[in-house]
Amino acid sequence: MNSSGSDTQVDDGSPSSFTSKIVRLDLLHTWTTTMSSSAYRETLHVAYSKDNITGYGEGAPIVRYHEDAESARVAAESMGEILLAGDPMHFSKIMEKIFHQFHDEWAAKAAVDISLMDWVGKRLQIPLYAYFGLDPQDAPVTTFSIGIDTPEITRVKVREAKDYPVLKVKVGLDKDEETISAVRSVTPKPLRVDANEGWEDKEEAVRKIKWLETQGVEFVEQPMPSDMLDEMRWVRERVRMPIIADESCQRASNISKLKGIFDGVNIKLDKSGGILEAYRMILIAKSLGMKTMLGCMVSSSVSVTAAAHLSPLVDYADLDGNLLIANDPFKGVQVERGKLVLPRQPGLGLTMK
Ligand code: MG
Repeated sequence: MNSSGSDTQVDDGSPSSFTSKIVRLDLLHTWTTTMSSSAYRETLHVAYSKDNITGYGEGAPIVRYHEDAESARVAAESMGEILLAGDPMHFSKIMEKIFHQFHDEWAAKAAVDISLMDWVGKRLQIPLYAYFGLDPQDAPVTTFSIGIDTPEITRVKVREAKDYPVLKVKVGLDKDEETISAVRSVTPKPLRVDANEGWEDKEEAVRKIKWLETQGVEFVEQPMPSDMLDEMRWVRERVRMPIIADESCQRASNISKLKGIFDGVNIKLDKSGGILEAYRMILIAKSLGMKTMLGCMVSSSVSVTAAAHLSPLVDYADLDGNLLIANDPFKGVQVERGKLVLPRQPGLGLTMK
């Protein structure tokens, strides 16, 4: 798709373009959660070019929102027409128009938004964290995620993750205690636990959380199905451990009803539809006195780096999606002894491998 139309003052006359493609990302280990088990994932990659500047974007389609890579690609192509018809420096206006016209396809929105904000940072010649007024030194430690597996493979994965000071362990199937015990047989480091809606009985959830409180676990993410908010409030009143919403919290408009039921929210660009909505979510959650966390899906360094640029704002980061794959096409945010190290180059600061 090509277009030469533009009203921006700095237009140098070179044609603008928007392209999209589906990229297959191979996982280092088969990745199992309560939702699925897979050896690879497909994400949507887009590139927006104008005035000899190219911005890159990515979105990971989420099955629970009825998305797949092809539906995301088709939607992104339509969104790209809106992008090409506007002035990219009017990025808020462009994304508002896209959100108004497309009521779903969050991965496509995320990919378009990230490419646009990468372009804007490059145009302004500042890294994206600087656009948001953030200090890269404030970037938090990221957890490294351990998917559900046998005790033997869980121990291997935990040993491989020796450079990460905090681990996030997936539970929610029928062997939670076995999984945590396998992790604990290898390491005493702090753990965060994600049940991915796996506990459907409120008494089971209380029992499991109380046990996790004895296991050096800092918080638990989404213990129960997303719409069981009354049951979650019942659980919240009976445990000490902080509880973070993930599947219960997709967009900014979801957050206020979660206060008092959850202690914080896990924000992901693929759920929110990009950087701008994720930024709004962080500010809203903070204004309500809730903890904030940035998470990700399995994805390349494009999406993970985009989220990392907002990470100086949040309490917790789980930005390891790019560390779980074998064929990352880009290099972006780095991790040094668990701490996120943001690129200093303009925009996202990505380089192609
Ligand atoms: Mg989660």
